[in-house]
Amino acid sequence: MPKLAKEIMLGFIPVLLVFLVFVGVNVVPLFIAAALVGTLLFIAKMKGGIAVGAGNERKRKKSGPAKLTFEEIGGQDNAKQELREALDFLIRHEDIKKFGIRPLKGILLTGPPGTGKTLMAKAAAHYTDSIFVAASGSEFVEMYVGVGAGRVRDLFKDARSRAAKENKQNAIIFIDEIDVIGGKREGGQQREYDQTLNQLLTEMDGIYSQDTPRILVIAATNRKEMLDSALLRPGRFDRHIQVDLPDKKGRTHILNLHAGNKPLHEDVDLDKIAEEAYGFSGAQLESVMNEAAIYTMRENEQFIHQRHLSMAIDKVMMGERSDRESNFEEKKRVAIHELGHAIMAELVRPGSVKQVALSPRGKALGYVRHNPQQEQYLYTKAFLEEQIMIALGGAAAEEIYYGGRSTGSSNDFEQSLNIVETMMKSGLTALGIINMNMVTTEELMKENNMILEELMNRTKSLLEQNRPIFDNSLDILLKEEILSGEQFRCQFRENALLPA
Ligand code: ATP
Repeated sequence: MPKLAKEIMLGFIPVLLVFLVFVGVNVVPLFIAAALVGTLLFIAKMKGGIAVGAGNERKRKKSGPAKLTFEEIGGQDNAKQELREALDFLIRHEDIKKFGIRPLKGILLTGPPGTGKTLMAKAAAHYTDSIFVAASGSEFVEMYVGVGAGRVRDLFKDARSRAAKENKQNAIIFIDEIDVIGGKREGGQQREYDQTLNQLLTEMDGIYSQDTPRILVIAATNRKEMLDSALLRPGRFDRHIQVDLPDKKGRTHILNLHAGNKPLHEDVDLDKIAEEAYGFSGAQLESVMNEAAIYTMRENEQFIHQRHLSMAIDKVMMGERSDRESNFEEKKRVAIHELGHAIMAELVRPGSVKQVALSPRGKALGYVRHNPQQEQYLYTKAFLEEQIMIALGGAAAEEIYYGGRSTGSSNDFEQSLNIVETMMKSGLTALGIINMNMVTTEELMKENNMILEELMNRTKSLLEQNRPIFDNSLDILLKEEILSGEQFRCQFRENALLPA
């Protein structure tokens, strides 16, 4: 919009001037005034005050200097260690020269969102006493060809000039979402991104043309497989550091860090919260601490209690409670759907259900809370199949009771499809060990349908066999709207005592 306004102005002003001259107005004072304003704007721009397109520059300046240390990052012990080792290239530059080692120019941090990649880059700047300049891949994407490339040039120029101004020997340039500009270049067509990427490669190749500042580019992505190989070749981003979701120890550490400025009651057991927050990223854990503090404040309490943290976990996992009122028929369908998940979960993993609830949260109308799981990094075929059966339990239950499904199963199907894909990639299906590109879509579809159909039948038959548990739990859930894990297991025990 500002660009459009500028263009309209540029067209309008000459026409206005010609008109004024035509009707006999003296335009000389106008010219003098315009020249004065122009000069003032130019001086302001030189001083870095007002500048067209300087938004990014100012944003970047705000991002430094970096004060964050590695101690303020929870978990990620391996990633931090690897990063520190890589940063020694910058610190021990004399030794590097002596041994003729090729200097390190780029480090790629990969991992899911919110795991602390930006924090790592900031801590790296602190550790190496560097200038920290940050930008995000999306900032380089412009409609106009050449603008992105110009911004990359400015970024490196900015790092150099700030290092000189602040008398620093090193500069770290952090580029978040590198996949936006560094995606694979396919086909002959030139895109704007290509120029931006080429400029980045050129800048990286020229990093060591001057001795100072020594520049290190740290890039982050959660889609490494999308990156162009030119970016990953030796001499560019050739150090790859995986920043994973934290394990339980890491989660406790992160929770402790974010609890530092909050009044915790002595009943709080952060170890237990970390156990419940299985699969959470650092950003989600930060959010748990924050939401717990908000609940505490709303209740006019002095200290954050364990229940505030549990409520916060629910909120971060499933969204805020909503006051959507559904009619009885809809409620019953939701109850049947959720019990389908819960019964399957309890059948394949006894003791795993913590709660079944009918209260709407986020987009869901009901939910099943599971007890914390053990950390696990390898999954067997049987485990993955059970996981699919738990996901299909909702749709299977609706089919049994109503003879058909509803739209409420779309997320469950998405989850099941993802698991099937993992199984295929890991050689756990009848397709054998495959590269997904070697197999036709029809073959993949056929195998996918076969697996899901077979598991759906197994799920339905298990649910049918446990119909009395289903019926009794349904009555309680519809009346109470909540069914605790203990109440639920009680139904299982009672059912086992019934004559077969
Ligand atoms: P994205 O991929 O979305 O850019 P990211 O991996 O760069 O995410 P950060 O921006 O570093 O994630 O983290 C976001 C916030 O989450 C941080 O400001 C911090 O509050 C919290 N956080 C994430 N990881 C950690 C961690 N390991 N220790 C402490 N806090 C963390």
